Amino acid sequence: MNRTLRLSLLALLATAPALQAADLYVHNVKGYTLDSHGKLQRFDALLVDDGKVVATGTDAALAKRADDATVIDGHGKTLLPGLIDAHGHVLELGYALTQADLTGTQSIDEALARIKDYAKAHPDARWIIGGGWNQVIWKLGRFPTARELDAVVSDRPVWLSRVDGHAAWANTAAMKLAGITRDTKDPPGGRIERDAQGNPTGVFVDGATALVGAVVPEPTDRERAVALDTALAEMARVGLTGVDDAGIDLPNYRLYKRYADEHKLTARIYAMIRDTGDAFDTITAGAPLDGYGDGYLTVHSVKLFADGALGSRGAAMLKPYSDDPHNHGLLFMSPGTMASKIEKAFAKGYQVNIHAIGDAANREVLDSFATAYKVHPDARAFRNRVEHAQIVSLKDIPRFVPLKLIASMQPTHATSDMNMAEDRVGHERIEGAYAWRRFLKQGTVVAFGSDFPVESPNPFFGLHAAVTRQDHQNQPPGGWYPDQKLSLVEALRAFTLSAAYAGRAEKTQGSLEPGKYADFILVDRDVFSINPQDIWKTRVLGTWVGGKQVYSAAK
Ligand SMILES: [Zn+2]
Repeated sequence: MNRTLRLSLLALLATAPALQAADLYVHNVKGYTLDSHGKLQRFDALLVDDGKVVATGTDAALAKRADDATVIDGHGKTLLPGLIDAHGHVLELGYALTQADLTGTQSIDEALARIKDYAKAHPDARWIIGGGWNQVIWKLGRFPTARELDAVVSDRPVWLSRVDGHAAWANTAAMKLAGITRDTKDPPGGRIERDAQGNPTGVFVDGATALVGAVVPEPTDRERAVALDTALAEMARVGLTGVDDAGIDLPNYRLYKRYADEHKLTARIYAMIRDTGDAFDTITAGAPLDGYGDGYLTVHSVKLFADGALGSRGAAMLKPYSDDPHNHGLLFMSPGTMASKIEKAFAKGYQVNIHAIGDAANREVLDSFATAYKVHPDARAFRNRVEHAQIVSLKDIPRFVPLKLIASMQPTHATSDMNMAEDRVGHERIEGAYAWRRFLKQGTVVAFGSDFPVESPNPFFGLHAAVTRQDHQNQPPGGWYPDQKLSLVEALRAFTLSAAYAGRAEKTQGSLEPGKYADFILVDRDVFSINPQDIWKTRVLGTWVGGKQVYSAAK
């Protein structure tokens, strides 16, 4: 071969590189993904190598590149990018799924039978923990008692929260451990249920729940691991390939790191460190984790709380609650404290994500970011987030833009809360509540999640709520404040690319584009062609993370 010919051949090879090999080929699918501009793309086949997307396209174009690949026939089903929940609580989901569950019990006898069975099935549990009871449904006309619980479990303490989390039911063993006697006084903001002689009967309301809660042991490492396994399995089942964990402590951090090292995570986790105290100091003494362990673990952010929740009127409002004219709710900390916590995290390069439900809390968060940016102007680029941004004054919504804040919102909160929320805040303030469209319209990045286990982790419930603003009974007709509805493409973007962006991972997650992780799901219907009212009924047939199948409905 003469030199000129060889050079021109080399030049040709350089312009047309050898086609990349593939080890997985998924074809015969109705594939959808957003591209990096957020536009919807269709494909019939997906080529994967070493856990990453090689190409999407037609079967005709890609089949010849799949010679050495494992082939999956999608049987014409719909393939979507794996969904990312931008705000969930992973271990809490695991606990909720493994604890004694009294949800739906129709009588106290049914509840007691469930507790008895649960205790028998869990002989090693030191405490029987659970919840979901509602004495109103039981038509008891009173609260249940410790003595009734003692009849089914007396060898161990039992502690069961009411369905709304605002009361809990103990047996005698639990009360003994907590030192509760007839001399125990009701704490401020709390009440101990008592009989005519003043003896505690077993139910603790609001602030009084802390009296027993304080002696409930911290979960052991093994209990944490069981909760994580349970939550990971549930996330894979509902099609979540990623989650932003909205608040971890030190043991949770160590568990995640161990699972990442042992390749046991089946969803990509972006975990926020709860507060800037000791756990933050310990964790940030080492280098931040960014896509640690093949992109499975990122810990580079902090979670703070500005206020409580709307249902219990713990959300901090600028003006009193419409249904409680003497109550504004409560800010958890002063603006000065909040700004100094933000600055502490910024100084280490950590992103800051702050829970804010009420309009006063949201305003405090905006003010505090503005203060902290004066000291750390570079931190505007950290993708700082307001978690929930639930009720925001119409005057404050535009401030998200110059402060470069992401709105991390939960569509199912709107459809679960709609009636209660309007009672609490009235017609005027509701205009700035659950106002996804307002944020999107001004160019704010909106990331969607569920806040599981407060809501179901099923992201199709969230997509449905975002698109219809209706509950599963199609109520209210036309949707609740329908001007805030999103299109399915916009909602999908918030559950994929924007959620990835909020977790600093949009270069590797959130869409099926060459070079990104092959995180995808097969589902039983084409969500883009069905009646939007049916989106929540979508079932996941299979879930793949990094090209590895982590869930199959067939098994
Ligand atoms: Zn949360």
